[in-house]
Amino acid sequence: MDVTPILANLNDAQRQAVTSPAEPALIIAGAGSGKTRVLVHRAAWLIDVKGVSPQSLLAVTFTNKAAAEMRSRIEALLKIPVQHLWIGTFHGLAHRMLRRHWREAGLPQNFQIIDSDDQLRLIKRMFKSLKIDDSQWTPKEIQWFINGQKDEGLRPQHIDDDGDPNRRQMIALYRSYEEICQRGGLVDFAELLLRAHEVLRDNSALLDHYRRRFKHLLIDEFQDTNAIQYAWLRLLAGDKGVPFAVGDDDQSIYGWRGARVEHIQQFQKDFPGTHVVKLEQNYRSTATILNAANAVIANNNMRIGKNLWTDGSPGEAIKVYSAYDERDEADFVIGRLRDWITQGNARADAAILYRSNAQSRVLEESLINARIPYRVYGGLRFFERAEIKDALAYLRLIANRNDDNSFERIVNKPTRGIGARTVEIMRSYAKANACSMWRAARTIVRNDLSGRAANAVDAFMSLIERLARETAGMTLHDQVDHTIHLSGLIEFFKKDKGEKGEMRVENLAELVSAAKSFTPDPAEEMLPLDEFLSHAALEAGEGQADAWEDCVQLMTMHSAKGLEFPLVFMCGMEDGLFPHQRSLADPRGLEEERRLCYVGITRAKQLLYITYAEQRRLHGMDNFSQPSRFIAEIPDEHIEEIRPRVQVSRPLHASRAAQQKRTPIVPGRDMGIRLGQRVRHKKFGEGIILNCEGQGTHARVEVNFETVGTKWLVLSYANLDLM
Ligand code: ATP
Ligand code: MG
Repeated sequence: MDVTPILANLNDAQRQAVTSPAEPALIIAGAGSGKTRVLVHRAAWLIDVKGVSPQSLLAVTFTNKAAAEMRSRIEALLKIPVQHLWIGTFHGLAHRMLRRHWREAGLPQNFQIIDSDDQLRLIKRMFKSLKIDDSQWTPKEIQWFINGQKDEGLRPQHIDDDGDPNRRQMIALYRSYEEICQRGGLVDFAELLLRAHEVLRDNSALLDHYRRRFKHLLIDEFQDTNAIQYAWLRLLAGDKGVPFAVGDDDQSIYGWRGARVEHIQQFQKDFPGTHVVKLEQNYRSTATILNAANAVIANNNMRIGKNLWTDGSPGEAIKVYSAYDERDEADFVIGRLRDWITQGNARADAAILYRSNAQSRVLEESLINARIPYRVYGGLRFFERAEIKDALAYLRLIANRNDDNSFERIVNKPTRGIGARTVEIMRSYAKANACSMWRAARTIVRNDLSGRAANAVDAFMSLIERLARETAGMTLHDQVDHTIHLSGLIEFFKKDKGEKGEMRVENLAELVSAAKSFTPDPAEEMLPLDEFLSHAALEAGEGQADAWEDCVQLMTMHSAKGLEFPLVFMCGMEDGLFPHQRSLADPRGLEEERRLCYVGITRAKQLLYITYAEQRRLHGMDNFSQPSRFIAEIPDEHIEEIRPRVQVSRPLHASRAAQQKRTPIVPGRDMGIRLGQRVRHKKFGEGIILNCEGQGTHARVEVNFETVGTKWLVLSYANLDLM
């Protein structure tokens, strides 16, 4: 057999990893060293050379985009169709398992997935119905608590309240939440993983079956597995399975969501005799980009420590642009993008990365104005838009009458005279009788409602029944089309004059197209509608330009993990935004932010731009900040500063030196005071300059101090330190 295609273009260490014996293996290596490549080639090696059946491979990674990439790379290498293979995200594979084994998992066959917005809304409703005072906890805190427990594999009965009444109540809320979900056949994201673990743990026949089936478990981005994901893998591997995990401790960025980088050590304990392979050559980035990334990550203390090198060219310096505000920043990025596109490069080869989803809006606006097609991954996505959720709620209710979330969402949308009071009556009935809202509605229509309200509810229920009847034999997109019309949603949004209404109607039409281009997976053995609904909840994210269109890629640094682009912009590199405010006081949090920065930098292959704004309006507030401390961690020789507006390049030394050293302000000199400058006062602590007036010894500044608020100070007396 000719193994050349599989082993060519691999270095020695990579080859050793790909061809390692059928024993547990762990590949720990830095960014861009070919870990994912090794994983893909390992799959090909096992199938083509070792004669392993493709059916007995399970390959798992974190994002949908990465999973799609993995699938297409395996397909290209092996030239076999891969849609039936178990290659996907943790959530996607867990979902598949639960669909197959809904009975064993204790779920209704048509269970629905709820995303994190749905989950929060459900918790809010629960607060209301249980009369929980949200001054004690916010629904969001309870959501965090529940998901955190599930990520650890814990059900309410497993959690100790430690004699703390507060905690006892949180556990009780978790229990109520579980009951509501179980009654409605609703499964949140964390539940997918937890149930997939439990269904194997509690069904020995099933576990045996899957252990026999999946001998080889290939795991990408292993550093970001949380407790329940690891437990699921551990269970599947048993004593005879062959887990093959690749990861990078420096890229562990989901600690805040329960990921544990310690699994790297745990793996070696759980699977004695693990082959450990290190890869040290980076093939992705120019030497400049790689050295910058290495220098930044070197500031972290908690690391295994790796030495990544490249024999690639130094490439261009990293360009740093200091923008006046977020619009100036967006204009700069769009200008550079234009140049890039005019030079004949593909738009899809450029990525704009940011720390927080909210940053995308301004960038999107500028892209739209410049008529540059783009696509946002994550954030407010197509399937998360209000009108799409409305339409999906109709479809969900058609598929499952007990879906209370959907029921409540659309019972009076479009308005049909069902008031809050009527809904409240149904809700209490449902609660008192432990039944769904639908059931409750059916009963109380006859007994408890006034004539008008009863008629309205009755009409709503007949509408849903009629929709279910009429759409039963239709193709998926006709089902969707019929539903958005008959439900009155199109009519309703058409009345909403102006841009917004129009956009909503267009989006609904887009949903029909989405249904049209949706190809159900025969392996799923589900009704197309059910599968489409699951897809909508899981994939939430295919908006803007179409997937096949050549468009600029926008995403958070978190969603960029595992991907690579010739041109990368890292925007909003400001202290407080990145590193994020929440992490500033916590060394562990700060290290996680630094790893995220390392992930961001190492996405770039040829060219990297870093931009920050002196002032930024975000979430409706104006912020003045300093450039991110991570910029100062990049050695000067790798950086070229782009001057605002005049657009000439000059070395960054002068301003970076000011940023690094604390310069006392001496009165009587031009002190370089500027709005937004961070300063420290002996008594009042740190603050930001909001205003200046006067000159020389009369110069005064208004400073917003973190602890004591705003104060006017005379500069010649204040002894401020510039920071
Ligand atoms: P990350 O940590 O970001 O996930 P990774 O370690 O998974 O990165 P890959 O994405 O597998 O790295 O590889 C990075 C790039 O280097 C890819 O474009 C890949 O094709 C290329 N590459 C990897 N190994 C080699 C090699 N031996 N020869 C040529 N190119 C390689
Ligand atoms: Mg990778």
